[in-house]
Amino acid sequence: LDPTGDNLSPQEIDVEKKLRPLTFDDFTGQDQALDNLQVFVQAANLREEALDHTLFHGPPGLGKTTLAHILANELEVGIKVTSGPVLDKPGDLAGLLTNLEDRDVLFIDEIHRLSPIVEEYLYSAMEDYKIDIMIETGPNARTVQINLNPFTLIGATTRSGLLTAPMRARFGISSRLQYYTTELLTSIVQRSAGILNIPISMEAAIEIAGRSRGTPRIANALLRRVRDFAQIKGNGKIDIEISKFALKALNVDAFGLDEMDNKILTTLIDKFKGGPVGITTIATAVSESPETIEEVYEPFLIQQGFIVRTPRGREVTAAAYKHLGKNKSGTQGG
Ligand code: ADP
Repeated sequence: LDPTGDNLSPQEIDVEKKLRPLTFDDFTGQDQALDNLQVFVQAANLREEALDHTLFHGPPGLGKTTLAHILANELEVGIKVTSGPVLDKPGDLAGLLTNLEDRDVLFIDEIHRLSPIVEEYLYSAMEDYKIDIMIETGPNARTVQINLNPFTLIGATTRSGLLTAPMRARFGISSRLQYYTTELLTSIVQRSAGILNIPISMEAAIEIAGRSRGTPRIANALLRRVRDFAQIKGNGKIDIEISKFALKALNVDAFGLDEMDNKILTTLIDKFKGGPVGITTIATAVSESPETIEEVYEPFLIQQGFIVRTPRGREVTAAAYKHLGKNKSGTQGG
């Protein structure tokens, strides 16, 4: 189970697309962000203007890409999709920008990973819908300025802290996505089960939802894995028994913590007496990159109250000791 979505197989990407809500009405949760976005979209539509540039930030799998597509849909415009690491030359960006039609959306995932040159180039495009392009080479080389159609840049990032100040300042709308409650995830699981034609009991939907790390991507992935167990080890229907059996086999615990979450907590307790420990040290100890720990694992562990950030590093809380059945000296407790 990969919350980041970086290592999805082609089949999994297809399923994600199939399960992606297409309209505001179809999208569950993030009410405050959604209420505002609906107003901004209606206003832009009324004035027949491009929507202001919009930034979505928050942990992976919470719906940033989905919302970008929904915005394009609700604006009734086209969308072009790219990502920070892919756009490595200003020329690539120029190609995309000059192909945008009036009011279209350009979605840049992982926008914090744009190279400084590309980012710089984007500024004038965002600000006055103009770019400079270089024509000819050698002694005849010169730049000409091209007018672009008004467009909306939608950026998504798991690390808003890494965005440069000038980049951040160019987004008129900025929205932080929150982890989902079990209740919201239950509706998402039921909706996905409906689309995939999977029979599932209410109790089972709640169970899967509660163990999904507050993340729709994980809820959908767990649903599909539990369905495998239901078809092979059960009668095809997802009920509470088969859900519990499958979730146990998948190493997902009652709080929805996955193996890496638990490994981080166990390492903090066993190797570092509960902390404080710096993020790089934790990352080395669990063989994961510091970025992934900070973007994916830490926010959820903090939100669940298992670790806290202190000026000297991360520390585990009493709740973490309790969850792992350990006492403060790091030994196994009752
Ligand atoms: P992000 O871009 O934040 O990593 P995505 O938008 O790609 O996340 O969402 C991951 C998966 O979760 C998609 O399959 C999407 O359909 C589903 N999903 C995300 N948010 C919701 C939601 N609010 N309701 C239903 N499904 C959702």
